[in-house]
Amino acid sequence: MDISTERTGTGLLGGTFDPVHNGHLWIARTAMQRLSLSRVIMMPAGVPPHKDPAGASPVHRVAMLRLAVDGLQGVEVSELELARPGKSYTADTLETLAALCPGERLYLLCGADMFLTLQDWYRCERIFELCTVVGMARSGGQRESLAAHAELLRERYGARACILDEEPLELSSTDIRRRIAENSSTEGLLPEVVRAYIDREGLYRNTPARREEPV
Ligand code: ATP
Repeated sequence: MDISTERTGTGLLGGTFDPVHNGHLWIARTAMQRLSLSRVIMMPAGVPPHKDPAGASPVHRVAMLRLAVDGLQGVEVSELELARPGKSYTADTLETLAALCPGERLYLLCGADMFLTLQDWYRCERIFELCTVVGMARSGGQRESLAAHAELLRERYGARACILDEEPLELSSTDIRRRIAENSSTEGLLPEVVRAYIDREGLYRNTPARREEPV
């Protein structure tokens, strides 16, 4: 990958990507630009700690991610968490990344749902030591709560926390899975190559939308 000299820092976007959609690409692209990152790593979780198990297999989720980021400068897909047995804890992942790239500034990119619960994550103090946490709204009216939460994380944990103040793209994988199961259109919600892949492989046709679990 071509790393520009002016850009430094690595963004980590973890998730289930079940499937990857334009909201994921939006947060990755926005963080890349606004924080002048040299790269963003999209990392699918094996066993996500905050959710029920994913609908599509890891092989399909990775294949869709690779298609989605193909040609996106600086965006990579990593199978680090898929290769690790057990739950995919972000603190462990950040420790691995810090060891692999000593001195690199790390940024954990989170949509509002994740950002607002960071204090409940496994070894959250370690997360705050290792990276800057970055929040982005997923729907209108979240700006104040995100800003207040960033302040709380700074005060309570000494975290480096910031917000990407952008118009949200109100998309979710849950909604896409539901639409596919109901045979409704998903046009414009995710890259065409990913839509074609889902169609070809017959994914999500019979899977009920995953229920959100409290952390
Ligand atoms: P699901 O609906 O299955 O829960 P999801 O759409 O929330 O999935 P994930 O793969 O769980 O997608 O999300 C990975 C990361 O991307 C999380 O930090 C999440 O908050 C963030 N994210 C997802 N969708 C958006 C969006 N529309 N805007 C900004 N961030 C998003």
